[in-house]
Amino acid sequence: MAEPADKGPTPGRVSLVGAGPGDPGLLTARAMELIAEADVVFYDRLIPPGALTGARDDAELQYVGKMPGTVYNPQADINRRLVDAARAGKAVVRLKGGDPFIFGRGGEEAEELAEAGIEFEVVPGVTAAIAATATAGIPLTHRDDSAGVAFVTGHRTGEGEGAIDPDGSLARFPGTLVFYMGVKRLAENAADLIAGGRPADQPAAAIERGSTPRQRVATATLGTIAETVAREGIRPPALIVIGEVVRHHEKLAWFERRPLFGRKVVVTRAKHQAGKLAALLRGQGAEVVEMPVIEIEPLPMTSDEIGDGIDLLLDEQDGLICFTSPNAVREFFLVLYAAIQADARALAGWKVAAIGGSTARALAEHGISADVVPREAVAESLLESLRSQDLEGRKVLIPRAETAREILPEGLREMGAEVRVIPLYRTVPVTPDEATLEEAASADAITFTSASTVANLLAAVPGGLPGVAGISIGPITSGAMREAGIEVSAEAAQRDLDSLAAAVAEALGTGEEAVRR
Ligand code: SAH
Repeated sequence: MAEPADKGPTPGRVSLVGAGPGDPGLLTARAMELIAEADVVFYDRLIPPGALTGARDDAELQYVGKMPGTVYNPQADINRRLVDAARAGKAVVRLKGGDPFIFGRGGEEAEELAEAGIEFEVVPGVTAAIAATATAGIPLTHRDDSAGVAFVTGHRTGEGEGAIDPDGSLARFPGTLVFYMGVKRLAENAADLIAGGRPADQPAAAIERGSTPRQRVATATLGTIAETVAREGIRPPALIVIGEVVRHHEKLAWFERRPLFGRKVVVTRAKHQAGKLAALLRGQGAEVVEMPVIEIEPLPMTSDEIGDGIDLLLDEQDGLICFTSPNAVREFFLVLYAAIQADARALAGWKVAAIGGSTARALAEHGISADVVPREAVAESLLESLRSQDLEGRKVLIPRAETAREILPEGLREMGAEVRVIPLYRTVPVTPDEATLEEAASADAITFTSASTVANLLAAVPGGLPGVAGISIGPITSGAMREAGIEVSAEAAQRDLDSLAAAVAEALGTGEEAVRR
């Protein structure tokens, strides 16, 4: 039976989602899942960088926060847009900083949705008070110092405007007080608490941009916190914490003591590969600017080389296949599946060589344990490792980039192998946008993970980034840097990402050696 014509679309659903305090790592798994599925995302200013990168390409991303110099989107307007989008049958995510129900007006939005009969879900987020105190090393409760915690707004509206604590009940609260939105009226609020009986010498702290690489913490007492915040130029978003627990900051300030805290580092790898290096650097406290200067472009699958390569793979039983990068592994299995719906089992009779650890790991993701992995991840070492194999007349496949060094195929041919190179992809330059370039120009260090990242950076930014320390993953990349006139401030001890991150810390004088000194 046909649907009645006037029924309209099946109503969608609204998810009120907390995005956490600003650190992308503190976005919940459920938040990421909903963002990835959403048709529309309405988001605020205080969401973590990269929070929306997991959204679908065709998702509508709508900013509904404050904008300098423009009229604030009235709440009624936001409520109406949520309802309209849901009524149009869309999967809607309303993404808010921190937790939606803690000073996020999530309560009002949920009420509006309930009244309109729209299905909704609330996904909690790590609220600023929890996150910023964790990173500032201030435990909100403590067996000796605080039996409870109160989250309070420093900026009352409506009745009682002015006095934050007219009857002294907040002043008497037996535990830690955390003020949100508390910078502007700090002097009045502190005076109010003191008037209500809270000791003026009780420790107090202000935490700006807690949990982010720009976190700043200032400590004082309730009596002096306003003057300290003004002097230090602490600005919103910031929390004010009042209580004995603030004493622990000095000992427990782990976050600001990490080697790259307060440093800005550029990652130039292709977007889909940047994640691991960016995470390593962030883990050491750095602010990371992701500025991919290359991306991987698959070659047309209809090429004869790809067709012939696949035929050979299916016909031959005891060949050798050499993978020289994780990209080659990725593209090879994509093509294998797209062309003939085959998977790792197509390699059953084949010996598999990987040039290095990250390529071997990429193979492991397909359930393949590489037979040969040389000690050093360069073509020369791979050839050395293969010398013990009898390659006379053996078929060898090398799936790889369109242009690459010829050392491996040539060396294998010299050993008597019948080598076939399968070009699967090429790296193409990407031109970063102005805003990213500006960020990068003010960075402390820039990382290069291959000679092609060097060449493409210079193509995008002629002259490179003067004053930004160049860090290289290994000798070949360093050579390319020197040739291009980029000074090599440090080179990774081993050709891997962990060593590269360590080299950044060394170059910036914050590495283990430097810290021990
Ligand atoms: N719903 C949010 C709070 C929104 S109100 C949450 O649960 O965290 C905005 C206030 O939150 C700011 O004025 C500031 O007091 C606080 N805030 C948000 N992010 C912060 C951060 N990273 N560091 C310190 N305070 C933060």
